Amino acid sequence: MPKRRSLRMLLFVAAAAVLVMSVRFGFADAWVDHYAFPASSLYELPAAAAPSAIEAKSEPGPDVPQTLQAAILSNRITEYHISVVLDERNGALSGEQTVTWKNPGRKAVSDFYLHLYPNAFAPGSTFLKESGGQLRGDKKKEGSDGSVELTSLTTMQGETLMPRIRYVQPDDGNKNDRTLVAFRLPEPIQPGKSVTLQMKFKVKLPDVFARMGKAGDFVMAGQWFPKVAVYETAGMRGRAAEGWNLHQYHGNSEFYADFGIYSVRIDVPESYKVAATGFLTKSPSVSSGRKSFLFYAEDVHDFAWSASPNFEYVEESFSSPGIPGVRIKLYIDPLHKDLKDRYMHAAKSALAKLGQWYGEYPYSTLSVIVPPASGNGAGGMEYPTLVTAASAQNDNPGYELERTLVHEVAHQYWYGLVASNEFEEAWLDEGFTSYTEDKLMASIYGVLSNLPVEASYLTRPEPLNLYSWKYSSSEGYAENVYLRGKLVLTSLERQVGDKTMSKIMRTYFQKYKFKHPSFSDFQKVVESVTKENWDDFFLAYVRKGEAADYSVQSIQTRKTDSGYENSVLIRRDGGSPEPVSIWLQFQDGQSLRKKWDGAQSQMLIKLESPSPLLYAAIDPSNNVVLDNRKYNNYLKAEVPAKQRTRFATSIAQMIEGLFGSMAW
Ligand SMILES: [Zn+2]
Repeated sequence: MPKRRSLRMLLFVAAAAVLVMSVRFGFADAWVDHYAFPASSLYELPAAAAPSAIEAKSEPGPDVPQTLQAAILSNRITEYHISVVLDERNGALSGEQTVTWKNPGRKAVSDFYLHLYPNAFAPGSTFLKESGGQLRGDKKKEGSDGSVELTSLTTMQGETLMPRIRYVQPDDGNKNDRTLVAFRLPEPIQPGKSVTLQMKFKVKLPDVFARMGKAGDFVMAGQWFPKVAVYETAGMRGRAAEGWNLHQYHGNSEFYADFGIYSVRIDVPESYKVAATGFLTKSPSVSSGRKSFLFYAEDVHDFAWSASPNFEYVEESFSSPGIPGVRIKLYIDPLHKDLKDRYMHAAKSALAKLGQWYGEYPYSTLSVIVPPASGNGAGGMEYPTLVTAASAQNDNPGYELERTLVHEVAHQYWYGLVASNEFEEAWLDEGFTSYTEDKLMASIYGVLSNLPVEASYLTRPEPLNLYSWKYSSSEGYAENVYLRGKLVLTSLERQVGDKTMSKIMRTYFQKYKFKHPSFSDFQKVVESVTKENWDDFFLAYVRKGEAADYSVQSIQTRKTDSGYENSVLIRRDGGSPEPVSIWLQFQDGQSLRKKWDGAQSQMLIKLESPSPLLYAAIDPSNNVVLDNRKYNNYLKAEVPAKQRTRFATSIAQMIEGLFGSMAW
């Protein structure tokens, strides 16, 4: 359309201007490097063939390139230039990368750390020990190991650092775990200065398990390359002194990385389609039965890709307030090709709402992968500008299709843009995303979650600021980080009202996009928006793992000369005070509603009435979403204690409701 074309032209002019400035003044090296990068000198790639017939001006297709955006949105600590070749016969990746890291601190840095995540799938790893080879309802296939081996590590001057590397296990001392590698640099990197390292690596893909691997000719490459750890500066996330944030890859843990630039060449068989973070900067080249794609992404903190010859490809452009213009690209398993409109509808609607509620989606693409049923473990996962939907298990799924997809799209905001430390404070991405997922499902599809039933499933409340692997079990992790985290935000919303809550979430997003906040930063936003102190609330529900238990403890009714004297004892165990209503029902049909501020742990209500009390209920409209013991909210009067009936909910129903869909 004419309007979009002129916008693109404007962007192109702006990009060209920045490029010229970059060359002249020497900043933003990536711009120059990216285009001048001599791929053939560093990488043994197939010789470039004649450009593909598909050009930028042709109809949208998977291989149509895009131009760069002009703005620099993040601090761009890291810059990766990667070249990777898929060895589809052996299920392996062969990679080379040049990584530049800028010291963001005020001290010189001598030691350097890389995450080698695929080693989680090697025997003896902490990940396998903790998970028992099972994750998210998926099981690791016997004998299907995965790994990454660093085969070369040098400085730009060619000095090898390989003899310096040592595997470190700061969390558990498990010497068989090789997911984090350390080495000393030849010279310290001064504050504000950069170091560039070159490395070669080989990845053995496991059969798809825990987000990555191969399934037939489907490949999901997530967390596949040696990735620099995060160096946190003083004051960041409450840190007193600057330093590396170092953790291994755990059973219950996702990831943490700095924002930067990725330029990634991916070489696959010619028949494959490739979905990846970012966008293509030029049409893929084809040579000797191989196809080479060059993807580029900036202001993102990870790069994932997926390839398969079987993907059905669908693309549409979309814009709405807060979404300046995005190409939504679907890579669908053939079983779901007729469901493309459902995926597209969910992706567009979710983006539109997120843009409207929180702020702009600053990227030009969003790619959605629908893995095959055999690649189930790759489903329901988020990466910057790329998400995986639930795998295609049957041809007519229920709302779990939409629920999983909107959850992952919501992660573009809570994870992709507001980039929490998922090792240490997983609820900041999963709890926030689950909360947003509920809002999206309600506002797009009118599908409401049954919160009282979900709350009843909170059997092991644990603090939300626990490191991911410190939870009692993977169920405890999911229960708290996803569900209780979501309920904490819902509880806040119930107390401050929808409008104020929207303002809190928007303010938090705007303030911390492209940053790594902690929950204290969120609390500060809550307090600045509401102009109230929320210490009690965050202490009870985040620092401590509490739930709220409001209950009717006892009812006593006594006949008097003029009628009846009723005494009702109500209690609050745990949680932070919040006002609740109390419903008193009398035998003659009269009823009375009272309010209690919940400030004390209990209150005795005494009242006289012409008719005796029949029952009392506290919080009958289930406003206290963190009350996980609803069965004691109701008590019938004048019945011997052992016969008192209480409302209970079916455990089976709760489990079904909670884990019906798998989305992380
Ligand atoms: Zn999630």
